[in-house]
Amino acid sequence: MKTFKSILEFQKEFNTEEKCREYLEQQRWDGTPACPFCGSINVCRFPNGKIFKCREKGCRSKFSVTVGSIYENSKLPLTKWFLATYILAVHSKGISSLQLATWLGTTQKTAWHLNHRIRKMLTDSAPELLEGIVEIDETYVGGKEGNKHASKRTVKGGTGNKAMVLGAVQRNGKVRTKVIPKTDTANVVATVTSFVQPDSIMVTDEHHAYKKLAAVYTHKTVNHREKEYVRNENGLKVHTNNIEGFWNILKKQIVGIHHVVSEKHLQRYCNESEFRYNNRELFQDERFAKVLTQCNGTLKYKVLIGKE
Ligand SMILES: [Zn+2]
Repeated sequence: MKTFKSILEFQKEFNTEEKCREYLEQQRWDGTPACPFCGSINVCRFPNGKIFKCREKGCRSKFSVTVGSIYENSKLPLTKWFLATYILAVHSKGISSLQLATWLGTTQKTAWHLNHRIRKMLTDSAPELLEGIVEIDETYVGGKEGNKHASKRTVKGGTGNKAMVLGAVQRNGKVRTKVIPKTDTANVVATVTSFVQPDSIMVTDEHHAYKKLAAVYTHKTVNHREKEYVRNENGLKVHTNNIEGFWNILKKQIVGIHHVVSEKHLQRYCNESEFRYNNRELFQDERFAKVLTQCNGTLKYKVLIGKE
């Protein structure tokens, strides 16, 4: 792993296409190039260093390290891609596509597409179930949507213009989020059981949709209506302060930076905030290295805007 402690050191490490490519090869393939079409490691490198050829009979594909990755089919040089990836992975709040466009010298449309593709890399592909004491809560992104004029609502679409996010955070652990159409029992039960290990302790507010989960978890509720915020129960602190703290961060990142996000992209924005929260203890270089290992998969512009 390359080490760098600042954006200046980062730019020195990754100032040529060759250096970026080499590092991407290392992170994506762990040093052993693999054919993105058939998965074989029986491949050879062309003398130019950039292109590989698969030796498998029936495949024989040519490819570079970006094929089948988020960076595929881009006119943008890898040096710029890396800088954008670094900023999104390391910057504490994320960055708007307008700002990114200015920094990279691209159009806003290019920066917007870039931003979403990098967000895809910030998504944990194999998250572990949360366990122990887990706080669960739901929120609207953008505050009390019902009080706002339709044009000012933060999230467009959804049931009655209210896209909900359900979140779970393990005490001293990670957070998980899911955009759900409404907080009825069916949606809540399905989401929570996909996030949290059975037999964990679940702390929620008094929302009725959590009641059915008492069969799977030890359920503790904090009674916000009675202005109760922390209760000490034989040493167990019953509160939802951690998930509420995360909602504050999420809203600052989404509303503070992007202002308006459409519901169909909301999960990706949530994933971005989740990544920062869950990897908050990693150093800059470790975070960047981790993101590159998650570069598999593509996200075409047409797919992003729902035209394919
Ligand atoms: Zn192949």
